[in-house]
Amino acid sequence: MHEWALAQAVVYTAIEYQRKEKLREIVELEIKIGELQQIDREIFEFALKEIVQLKKMTGMRVRVEKEEAILKCRVCGYQWSFADSMKRLSGEQAEFIHFLPEVIHIHSRCPQCKSPDFEIVKGRGVKITAIKGIK
Ligand SMILES: [Zn+2]
Repeated sequence: MHEWALAQAVVYTAIEYQRKEKLREIVELEIKIGELQQIDREIFEFALKEIVQLKKMTGMRVRVEKEEAILKCRVCGYQWSFADSMKRLSGEQAEFIHFLPEVIHIHSRCPQCKSPDFEIVKGRGVKITAIKGIK
């Protein structure tokens, strides 16, 4: 259900944009899904397709891309990618994080100062990164 709610939110945002900008049609929509967002991409894309059809926005091309997750140390300010972090983990730990991204805090440290105090600055949630329409 989570995927359907997200897909609906995305399409409604596009409709809202179309209304505000007085566009005849939205022709392109680009969506980025954070690497750490727990989502079944297949269900999400299926839901998108269904809702787009239901809203008769069939002229719209939808692109779904992955947004790389970026972590930032709160102590020294160093930034590194989630993919880098994963490389340092054992296969078992990596698999665990894949299903439960929040546990990355237990298994990872800042590569520079070894602090466990870091934040996720990018790679969460679902967002619209580009939208194109015609008047
Ligand atoms: Zn650090």
